[in-house]
Amino acid sequence: MATYRPAPVRFVAGAGCRLFDDEGRSYLDFLSGIAVVSLGHAHPAVAEAVGRQAATLLHVSNLFENALAEEVAARLDELVTGGAGGGMVFFANSGAEANECAIKLARRFGGRGRHEVVSAYGSFHGRTLATLHATGQPDKHEPFAPLPEGFRHVAYGDLEALAAVADPTRVAAVLLEPIQGESGVVVPPSGYLAAARRLCDERGILLVLDEVQTGLGRTGSWFAFQDEGILPDVVTVAKALGNGMPAGACWARAEVAGHFRPGDHGSTFGGQPLALSAVRATLETMAELDVPARARHRGGQLVEAISGMTGVREVRGRGLLLGVVLEEGLDAGALASRLLAEGLVVNAPVPGVLRLAPPLVVSEAECDEAAEILKRVLAAAVRAARPGRPVGGAG
Ligand SMILES: *Cc1c(COP(=O)(O)O)cnc(C)c1O
Repeated sequence: MATYRPAPVRFVAGAGCRLFDDEGRSYLDFLSGIAVVSLGHAHPAVAEAVGRQAATLLHVSNLFENALAEEVAARLDELVTGGAGGGMVFFANSGAEANECAIKLARRFGGRGRHEVVSAYGSFHGRTLATLHATGQPDKHEPFAPLPEGFRHVAYGDLEALAAVADPTRVAAVLLEPIQGESGVVVPPSGYLAAARRLCDERGILLVLDEVQTGLGRTGSWFAFQDEGILPDVVTVAKALGNGMPAGACWARAEVAGHFRPGDHGSTFGGQPLALSAVRATLETMAELDVPARARHRGGQLVEAISGMTGVREVRGRGLLLGVVLEEGLDAGALASRLLAEGLVVNAPVPGVLRLAPPLVVSEAECDEAAEILKRVLAAAVRAARPGRPVGGAG
């Protein structure tokens, strides 16, 4: 079905940070399947684990216990809590499903009447009907009304707005992204998450953080919330979890997770051995390579290289989740198409911003190469947008 616009290239293979199209052309991948392939394409550890698992046991159903699920859940618990432990995990197949789990858990926790979920304008939480309503983009709701009820939205980064609607007699959970990826890598004021944590504590409301895009090293920490020294009640992850194998997870503090009873939630495929073999190999390799540190270093390099470029107003984000905010008059979508033609894969989540989210294993030389392509294409776009004016001239 035509749910995506047609693209001018067809990728048939990948290796590390490179993609190859059906005509044999090579591209630098600075999108990673939207923050999915954090270890790069065709990573041998993941490929080997999946191949071995496929030849051993693909699937058994969650009617039976599975040792891989216990092991991977314990590992995720360690990463979320910084080693302290004390959480439980539900495995799903995607980010939307991980968030659905969080929303259902919040409703179980809150009880009837105290079922509302407050999220932020500009957020993105998924495409199912409930996660679509949690997504704070009213124009996306309109064609699919009526949506499941019990969702409210407030301005992102505005603690007072949050405090005004977080009525503990009606609200079960506050659901936030630490950085809004899909609205152009929007970073809230520092201290926002910590303040939201305090507010939720005072009012007995769950703090649910959607780390589907920001989690697993992308922003320079294992989880972006760790930069504010807090622990949420619920954390959702997906995208990079299986390095391309579909997998999602909803982590919750054990006291919160305990509100689910057998039969409350489930999944045919979630947590199956094949997906979890990829997750286990991905998490192991991420730790061996210390991907959070790599994201910090290469992110710093890219910010420095790109910040002063002609046509760039600002580079925002953290680690290797960066939004290149363009000067007025430059169309990020058109620019992304030109960059693709020049061999650099990025995307434009909103009209004025290019998103950079390369694999976390990207090298210094690859970042230099991407910055060179970007500089060249930006300069040409600026020349075309302002005929007769010198490049970098006042605007
Ligand atoms: C991508 C994304 C989702 C949805 O994940 P799917 O796997 O596409 O369902 C949810 N939340 C955030 C923050 C995302 O970036």
